[in-house]
Amino acid sequence: MLPTKAYAAFAPGSPLGPYELLRREPGEHDVLIDIAFCGVCHSDLHQVRDEWRGGSYPMVPGHEIVGRVARVGSGVRGFAVGDPVGVGCLVDSCRTCPSCQRDLEQFCENGPAWTYNGTLMDRKTQTYGGYSTRIVVDQAFVLRVPRNLDLAGAAPLLCAGITTYSPLRHWHVGKGTRVGVVGLGGLGHMAVKLAAAMGAEVTVLSTSHKKEPDAKRLGARAFAVTTAEGALSRLAGHFDLVVDTLSAEHDYNAYLSTLRVDGAMVLLGIPPQAAPVQAFSLIGGRRSLAGSLIGGIAETQEMLDFCGTHGITSDIELIRMQGIGEAYERMLRGDVRYRFVIDTATL
Ligand code: NAP
Ligand code: ZN
Ligand code: ZN
Repeated sequence: MLPTKAYAAFAPGSPLGPYELLRREPGEHDVLIDIAFCGVCHSDLHQVRDEWRGGSYPMVPGHEIVGRVARVGSGVRGFAVGDPVGVGCLVDSCRTCPSCQRDLEQFCENGPAWTYNGTLMDRKTQTYGGYSTRIVVDQAFVLRVPRNLDLAGAAPLLCAGITTYSPLRHWHVGKGTRVGVVGLGGLGHMAVKLAAAMGAEVTVLSTSHKKEPDAKRLGARAFAVTTAEGALSRLAGHFDLVVDTLSAEHDYNAYLSTLRVDGAMVLLGIPPQAAPVQAFSLIGGRRSLAGSLIGGIAETQEMLDFCGTHGITSDIELIRMQGIGEAYERMLRGDVRYRFVIDTATL
């Protein structure tokens, strides 16, 4: 076994602290990765605080992992020591069910193996995430990071990047598509960059008026402060697609009204509370309310290659592992510009 330094939450909501875990020796199909950077996703915070229930502790969060290959098993093809690689929210799936056959491992009908706060497919071995110095992952779930991308800035692509890329592709965003991005945080800022690169006309809908210059710099054409009187009614019937990344409870009906005929609003943010939806918000204009969960492995590689071609990375603030508590506090206040990334050398 490989002793590995990590940071863990020891009980729901407890501050994170040092923890040592044991990674398995790499098997025939495994890749051992020396983790260089790990992004801090709002999902880490929801799970550390057990807001979605059923969390298992000690919990080592982190599913925006990038690093370099340190060792490969004898059956590994296409990865060599030193290669820049990434791991996202998934480390395995059954590989045989209809979803896995369709490259939708995130919807594995037998339940995928989540990178942390879950188990491997044996349903016994606890998984631990990227707030750690190394990880062992089956080659089928290891992604190639384009060499032209800054490695730290590429870390958030493994969750925030694919989570926003997948619905933009699924709803056929292209030149001239009117896309509304609700919430300019980690997911939101990636949605703006990716949709703009696909040719969309992007509007950011934010509670923070101070983020307007950033929204424009990231590629948005327009900006609306959602707390201002009448802001959403001025956008009534405007968007083809609304991408909702809010982590906290809010009124879906208000945002549904901004969709044009046949428009869709896709929920990416996962507030723990349920929220009522009025039938009237949907029937007028034949609108759809949908959701989307990260993306499959093949699509994640496609997204990384797209980012390599367009030179897209995340706007990050590099932090020490010891600063994670403060980073969580700032995330709760919506004060993230636009993703915290942990330098795992500080472990
Ligand atoms: P984040 O960086 O914290 O951004 C969330 C943004 O929502 C904030 O920047 C803020 O934007 C807005 N916001 C926060 N609190 C708010 C409040 N009380 N009222 C109104 N707006 C508020 O979070 P993230 O990492 O992007 O994640 C966002 C959500 O997506 C989380 O719930 C996370 O669990 C979920 N998620 C889902 C998936 C998936 O596969 N579906 C994947 C990853 C994450 P403004 O300042 O612009 O208003
Ligand atoms: Zn995430
Ligand atoms: Zn499956």
